Amino acid sequence: MQNFTLHTHNSELNFDGKNTASEMIEKAQTLGFQTIGVSNHMIVNEILNFPPTVEPMFHNDFSKATQCYLKHIEILENLKSKFKISIKIGFECDFFEDKNWRNSFEKMLKQLPIDYLIGSNHFIRNDDESYILNIYHLKKFNPKLTQEQIDHYTINYYKSTASLIRSGYFSFIAHLDYCTIFNLGEDSRFDSYKIAIMDALKETKTPLELNTSGFDRINRPHPDPKYLKYLENSVPLVISDDAHSTDNLGRHFEKAEELLKSYNYTNRFTLEMLKKPL
Ligand SMILES: [Zn+2]
Ligand SMILES: [Zn+2]
Repeated sequence: MQNFTLHTHNSELNFDGKNTASEMIEKAQTLGFQTIGVSNHMIVNEILNFPPTVEPMFHNDFSKATQCYLKHIEILENLKSKFKISIKIGFECDFFEDKNWRNSFEKMLKQLPIDYLIGSNHFIRNDDESYILNIYHLKKFNPKLTQEQIDHYTINYYKSTASLIRSGYFSFIAHLDYCTIFNLGEDSRFDSYKIAIMDALKETKTPLELNTSGFDRINRPHPDPKYLKYLENSVPLVISDDAHSTDNLGRHFEKAEELLKSYNYTNRFTLEMLKKPL
């Protein structure tokens, strides 16, 4: 059984977890994990203009975001001496292809002493990323989009996920088909784009997460286990609870282990595979 959890969130500095880092770490230690990775959201894009009360963890200023992340790293560094469990510091990062974004992103990364990044995609988008929409906001704000636009932006969601994989910044990729929780990109028109993502994983040998939060929402993990067959053991898999509270830590890990066994999926992620993004 995997004895570490690398995809967890907490509540300090307006991140979206329900418990403090200290509470999460303590619970992971109690559960017998040898390592916990803390991976709060890194969402920075200059076109994200929300009032701070609406989406306080969405940043539109790279230098302010850097200050926030440095503060967070400091909080975690201070906790290291208080626990036996090993603490790794990472972020779950939303990636954008735009060249200017990547320049600012790399500049920010150089200032952040972190152990790893998880590559994640929570945004549908238009072709040049001048319009980006967090998939939660489809329901929350009900933006005026035609079905044709939503389909097109969902195709771009899949395309940008393939680019995210090929970018090489990430230790592993989070919840590949996350948009399915809102029934986006479900029918066969989207299949070729999903295959392109699998091909990107296979070619780059980028590790992938089996995210157990899906068991609570759609009765299966992310990605859909049918993709495990396609991957044929070619990339290392890491089981993630995507814990936003102490109750979520280690959720459905046994079920995930059984599932991997039933697919004969033996290529597993190890902590040595964590890498710094630059
Ligand atoms: Zn996520
Ligand atoms: Zn997450």
